[in-house]
Amino acid sequence: AIVIKNISKHFGSFRALDSVNLEIEAGSLVALLGPSGSGKSTLLRLIAGLETPDTGAIWLRDRNVTYQNVQERNIGFVFQHYALFKHLTVRKNIAFGLEINKVPPREVKARVEELLDLIQLTGLGDRYPSQLSGGQRQRVALARALASQPQVLLLDEPFGALDAKVRKDLRAWLRRLHQQVHVTTIFVTHDQQEAMEVADEIVVMNKGRIEQVGTPDEIYDSPATPFVMSFIGPVN
Ligand code: ATP
Ligand code: MG
Repeated sequence: AIVIKNISKHFGSFRALDSVNLEIEAGSLVALLGPSGSGKSTLLRLIAGLETPDTGAIWLRDRNVTYQNVQERNIGFVFQHYALFKHLTVRKNIAFGLEINKVPPREVKARVEELLDLIQLTGLGDRYPSQLSGGQRQRVALARALASQPQVLLLDEPFGALDAKVRKDLRAWLRRLHQQVHVTTIFVTHDQQEAMEVADEIVVMNKGRIEQVGTPDEIYDSPATPFVMSFIGPVN
């Protein structure tokens, strides 16, 4: 499980996160949902180890990781504009982290083929990123994040830059992938419908605070605050 205890984070005098408490069950698929500036990316970056909190602690699998760096935490992440290496093939992009960590070549090869199957790009391993569609590139970025078999996968608006049809396909695909891999996954979105469709559990954020945590049905049927009610609104 991931346990976030009383985390606050300021940028100058601005309070980006205000006493955030959250517990995420191992293996679940969770959406961080909230308007622009509500602190979603900041919370994700803290979990990843890209920022340190002013106060509070983060626990991963019963270990306090608050002051561990990114590598020590073994977390995979994909950010919206986290580009692939243009001069490397799909296969090399996926293998990148494994090769840096001196995983034996034979093992790397097997793992990459497995991941290509998983992202449904079997046979496209020798292409370059410029020869892929936007949705295919995001799947490669996901495969790269999964290559080191992280215990947690963090996705910050991974489908944000794509058109509506591709986003819809990728949502379904992310759910299927999660059923296969079972890695604890947190994804950020400001799209209510995306959160409702994809997540087991939704964390609604506003102004650096958590307004409500619940299943899509709970959030929809019983919004806990006026903010949640207005933000979720009637979804068509
Ligand atoms: P969006 O949906 O627009 O990505 P968000 O919910 O991810 O928004 P954050 O990026 O977490 O929001 O930012 C929360 C607040 O903290 C914003 O008001 C932002 O301007 C501020 N902030 C974030 N990072 C920094 C920084 N490095 N320096 C100063 N202010 C920051
Ligand atoms: Mg953000």
